[in-house]
Amino acid sequence: MITEEGNRGSMDRRAFGATGREVSLLGYGCMRFPVRDGVIDAERATKLIDRAYTGGVNYFDTAYFYHEGQSEPFLGEALSAYPRGSFFLATKMPYWDVKKPGDVETIFYHQLERLKTDYIDFYLMHAMNGTNYDRMIRFKGYEFFERMKAEGRIKHLGFSFHGTLTDLRRMIRNHAWDFAQIQFNYLDYEEQRADLQYQLLTDAGIRVIVMEPVRGGALAVLCPEAVEILRKAAPDKSVASWAIRYAASPENVLCVLSGMSNEEQLADNLGTLSDFRPLSERENAVLQDALYAYRKSKTVRCTACRYCKDCPQAIDIPEIFRLYNDFVLTGDRKALRNAYRPIPPRQNAAACLACGKCSGVCPQSLDIPAQLKQIASVIGFIRPAPSK
Ligand code: SF4
Ligand code: SF4
Repeated sequence: MITEEGNRGSMDRRAFGATGREVSLLGYGCMRFPVRDGVIDAERATKLIDRAYTGGVNYFDTAYFYHEGQSEPFLGEALSAYPRGSFFLATKMPYWDVKKPGDVETIFYHQLERLKTDYIDFYLMHAMNGTNYDRMIRFKGYEFFERMKAEGRIKHLGFSFHGTLTDLRRMIRNHAWDFAQIQFNYLDYEEQRADLQYQLLTDAGIRVIVMEPVRGGALAVLCPEAVEILRKAAPDKSVASWAIRYAASPENVLCVLSGMSNEEQLADNLGTLSDFRPLSERENAVLQDALYAYRKSKTVRCTACRYCKDCPQAIDIPEIFRLYNDFVLTGDRKALRNAYRPIPPRQNAAACLACGKCSGVCPQSLDIPAQLKQIASVIGFIRPAPSK
């Protein structure tokens, strides 16, 4: 029977501050549900949510624009099958959509409606960096959410972060936060200074929620040499499980989000974070060897978050990066050629106008036009020579 306490399964949980409530170590990231004909495959995605819930997952993280606005209403419907007090809902305020006074309020009440709830457990200021933080201040977002907290419409206030260390220090110094969500994985630990972000938050007494532990799937694939190192050390463990365990190992981590798109990923993550064991010193050393091997491969560090979806040329940027990364990792020219051929010329890598619109919104700070230019030249190079 499912009670207000929920269904624990064998999932590990961590206590959240003085609330006495416990959050499952695995959280469901709701930006990568299975899709059919451009919309969330509701039947399959509902089964995934049900399986996660019965496996002990009690934290569900969505956002206003995930799946182009479909994620919140879908999640509200899927979770309405369970007692409201038995799970935690997290969603976020997109300040880039806030254009005038009153928009913060309008979006927030729309979110409550979409999610079929009268309160949000963990409310986040979305994708904070210097620019979005300034917008939050300008539109008095923090004051509004403090009021919502006092009224019980949100329980805990935090932010997800894609800025610089200076931005983070400023946010911690100027406002009080209950939690923060950062990109934390063994690749970004140094590359995006996730180590220092984690330390700053921990020193400030702010709990950490991890996003992108598998870096949009890249750390589930790696490269053949790195995979071999991990397989040799633990033949029965998936490559992704190393990344999940790495992210869950630090004590100040409350929950590790994974944007699970299929049943295999969910089963693997449930297994990894049930009866959880942090990485040992020896396992950490193995992981560093695998990382060293992976760093030698020159893949594009895209997480497929789709923040760059509004390209005026309608270029599917993450898909082109995915095809290219597959090629870099496998060296399979024929597969790249076959996969790339159906893309219409007006939407392929060479069609980029270098307008820069995408780079301005990329949380990974990728120089997208430069990457596309380089990919266009590689693809041009591997095209079969004309017969005459
Ligand atoms: S720089 Fe290129 S890929 Fe990016 S938005 Fe402009 S046209 Fe699209
Ligand atoms: S290029 Fe950047 S914004 Fe676009 S999907 Fe990849 S990581 Fe996200």
